[in-house]
Amino acid sequence: MPSFQPVRGMRDLIGQEAQAFTYIVTKARKTANLYGFREVITPHVESLDLLSAKSGEEIRQRMFIFKDLGDRQVALRPEFTASIARLVTSNLKNEPKPLRLFSSGTVYRYDEPQRGRYREFWQSNFELIGSDKPEADAEIVLLTNFLMTNLGLKYYAFKIGSIGVIRGILNADGIDEKTQNNVLQLMDKKDLDSALKLVDSEKCRTTLKGLINIKGENWQETIEKMKSYLEYYDEAKIAVENLHLTLNLITESTNIKLTLEPAFARGLEYYTGMIFEVYIPQLDIALGGGGRYDRLIETFGGEPTPAVGCAHGIDRVALALQIQGTTFELTTEKRVVVIPITDAVRTQAFKIAQSLRLSGVAVEFEVMGRKMVKALEDADKRKIGFAVIVGERELKEDAVVLKDLVNRKQKQVTLKNLVEEIKN
Ligand code: AMP
Repeated sequence: MPSFQPVRGMRDLIGQEAQAFTYIVTKARKTANLYGFREVITPHVESLDLLSAKSGEEIRQRMFIFKDLGDRQVALRPEFTASIARLVTSNLKNEPKPLRLFSSGTVYRYDEPQRGRYREFWQSNFELIGSDKPEADAEIVLLTNFLMTNLGLKYYAFKIGSIGVIRGILNADGIDEKTQNNVLQLMDKKDLDSALKLVDSEKCRTTLKGLINIKGENWQETIEKMKSYLEYYDEAKIAVENLHLTLNLITESTNIKLTLEPAFARGLEYYTGMIFEVYIPQLDIALGGGGRYDRLIETFGGEPTPAVGCAHGIDRVALALQIQGTTFELTTEKRVVVIPITDAVRTQAFKIAQSLRLSGVAVEFEVMGRKMVKALEDADKRKIGFAVIVGERELKEDAVVLKDLVNRKQKQVTLKNLVEEIKN
């Protein structure tokens, strides 16, 4: 038989790594709760039409696409936003705005596997739908900041920009949307020369070049310089004013490290306003990112609905925690193993295990039929806190032996007091 391996770009998560993922998702869910986001769970498989409606050419080419047995063209979701847009234009259509929706789980992209880049990876995803205000933009950045701090990340920083400003300039010069998307994609890849070549108008090119070359001491200086280039661009001017308000809200309400980069663009085509990414100094790939996408819901057949959202890459956050040496405690629960000394007391031991679980004690029953010494050795190795040893002699007195495997002490305890003894 061949020895089977996971499919290229997919991983098994075991031990510490699986725990890290659970830890991060739990923190993300807690953040969602604290910021008023309710959880929705959508399918991993969606129709290809839905997923390719507005993800952008980049992601379209990297989707896992197949036909189901009913001859439907479907694909594994490459992100959550399309599914959320589907929900907002169907089941949640008549719900009052704003909608705050949280999801987490795996997404799939045919990326070239490398450190921090996989074909199946996890995201936590937040969407705030129905507001075009800077407050909504600020909330999305702030909740990301809250999550990163709360996870115990020590050093990280935000990069912020505005697709709204860039599109504002391109719109003023009548550049069509497809070309705009190409310009933005090249800017995302830092190929600024090729991006500028797609722009015909000299005036527009000069403005963009000016913007790209801005070097500010801090974001306040950068934003003033941005404004100085946009005097004749009404739409871009509004976008930069919004960005200014957003940055004020963010920096005045929390301690945050951020840089404003006027030439910053992101791969997904649907962004229309503020965009951001979060990084740690030790990795040159983003831990998360997001932005404003005011026209997406319309594309899916809904009413014009402004929206802003973000996704955090859980695989990369786990990597960042590991790189920065952040430790975490997942459960503080005491674990117990229940061992019957003889077959004659097996049923009673089983009952004791069940009643401990009903009282909230985590129990592993000795299912290998090993002798007590072997079973205890194994429990020790796996750092289990207590052993409950069930013997005929003690049972006659409605008692068992409770062995503290950490402090190496043991005593006889009545069944009535067992839970209390373990919990204390
Ligand atoms: P996006 O949906 O492209 O905005 O990505 C959001 C986040 O998902 C990124 O900031 C990464 O942390 C994570 N991410 C994107 N692609 C991958 C990948 N191939 N492997 C692991 N994480 C990824």
